[in-house]
Amino acid sequence: MNRPDGPHDTGEEPVSAMDIVATVSHELRSPLTSIKGYTALLLNRWDVLDDDRKQFMLAQVAQDADRVTRLLNELLDISRLETGRLSLRRAMVDLQALAADVVAKVGLAAPELEATVTFPADFPEVYVDGDKLTQVLTNLVENAVKYADPTGVRISGELADGEVAVAVSDRGEGIAAEDLAHVFDRFFHADEGRPSGTGLGLWISRGLVEAHGGQLTAESQPGRGSTFRFTLPTGEFERIHGEG
Ligand code: ADP
Repeated sequence: MNRPDGPHDTGEEPVSAMDIVATVSHELRSPLTSIKGYTALLLNRWDVLDDDRKQFMLAQVAQDADRVTRLLNELLDISRLETGRLSLRRAMVDLQALAADVVAKVGLAAPELEATVTFPADFPEVYVDGDKLTQVLTNLVENAVKYADPTGVRISGELADGEVAVAVSDRGEGIAAEDLAHVFDRFFHADEGRPSGTGLGLWISRGLVEAHGGQLTAESQPGRGSTFRFTLPTGEFERIHGEG
């Protein structure tokens, strides 16, 4: 069943406290266990560990601390989206530059990323919250790396009637039709066996795009890759900006 699961759908049940508790305890336990284990080893065996081992363990601790921070930020986003308290800090933003920035940052953590950024020359600046759209694009590019093929990622700017759009395409395995209907559901993972996050990334991204008055959609051809596309209405920000 393809049940839209965006925060703006009327009649949607808010995410239940039990869902949150279950997911958060599960997701926090693993990095905290690892941080505890490595710090205990470092404290107890500092004198006998060589520098490479110490370096490796400290890098793991830093990575796990990042995971915890990310989870807490996702929880804050959920709470803001659920309660309608998300506020946008709009400014004129060059989405092509923003996309190039995202590719550079994701590439630091995932050097295997090979991505192209292509925007039409007349693509306008848009009146949006740059941090929120950075978060959306980062989620889409990281997903292409995690779940698809890091070597064939394309970010394209598109112009259509009254709207601009940004599409992130990959050349991965694609998403089966029955999974595609659920990728925006909270806590959804298409393949439980593969390493992944909380299953909240796309749900939050859709909420952030909808808060701008746009839409985030996915299409996929199994075996040939997927495209995630978000639209932003231009009329609204041109008017707001014109008034400013
Ligand atoms: P998480 O935050 O755990 O990474 P998301 O909400 O971002 O989860 O994504 C939900 C699920 O959608 C993923 O677990 C994965 O199964 C699927 N998915 C997302 N992006 C892609 C992609 N580019 N190719 C294939 N599957 C994807």
